[in-house]
Amino acid sequence: MPNHSLGTPARRSERVLLRIPIRVEGEDTLGNAFDETTYTLVVNRSGGLIIVAHLLQPGTVLKITNLKSQISCPFEVVMRAATSLSGHPEWGVKCLDPEVEIWGVHFPTRTEEPAQPDLTHVMLECQECFSREMAALTVQQYRELVAQSSLPRPCPKCGATRDWKFGFMEAELEEVSPDLPTPSVSGSTAQSEVGKRRDKRLAVKLPLEVRLPDGCEETSTTENISKSGLCFACNLEMQVGDRVYVSVGLDAPVEQREIPARIMWRRPATGKGRAFYGAKLEGGRGEGQ
Ligand SMILES: [Zn+2]
Repeated sequence: MPNHSLGTPARRSERVLLRIPIRVEGEDTLGNAFDETTYTLVVNRSGGLIIVAHLLQPGTVLKITNLKSQISCPFEVVMRAATSLSGHPEWGVKCLDPEVEIWGVHFPTRTEEPAQPDLTHVMLECQECFSREMAALTVQQYRELVAQSSLPRPCPKCGATRDWKFGFMEAELEEVSPDLPTPSVSGSTAQSEVGKRRDKRLAVKLPLEVRLPDGCEETSTTENISKSGLCFACNLEMQVGDRVYVSVGLDAPVEQREIPARIMWRRPATGKGRAFYGAKLEGGRGEGQ
């Protein structure tokens, strides 16, 4: 079975590009205690990628608090990631108690997932208790979810079958402004800035073909999608403003429509020199330019 390992080498669950406000408490490389309000960039079951302005020593244990839920958990600093467009240091952190589910999303372990090869990972939300799960759906289940806009499935928290819907995410800040100066989540200006163009965004991992105008192609998976755009990780070298062509979905490639898209932001991905890209779909037939 092909393993779409797009990020950190030992990734044990699907990752989600989720911006969660957090408080980070710990000691910097000089041994000075700090307390920083910041946010996550990527989360998975076993950890995440976070922005922390203070310099950290790998191996250091931090206390991270999810400011939405006030749930705290100890994390270990694993490595410093490539610098983001914003210039703030990004750190890979490992959760020392993954049972806590600090991110508010349940990431099923591999054994909990049905043993079928073509699973689509989707962030769902129980309509009763609003718990979230990065669910692994069969093609049939995914199609039912899209057609009915909800899907009955068991909720571990409710202990019963419930209707699940897509769990919406907030747009990435980079989509609005690639070099937003501050990682502060308390700033109201940053919030309203995002609000202007907020788009309903779904964490859905769909098969994706990316083609450059010169013919270079790569198969990948979406990280998230919205009506107007998508985010994906890819090895192809693209710059902000570049025109690319994407085809997304579960249909056979020959049945899929290739859609022109424009690269809006780019961020190094952790691990193997890949990058995350945000692209805006450009409707129509790509005439004029
Ligand atoms: Zn529930």
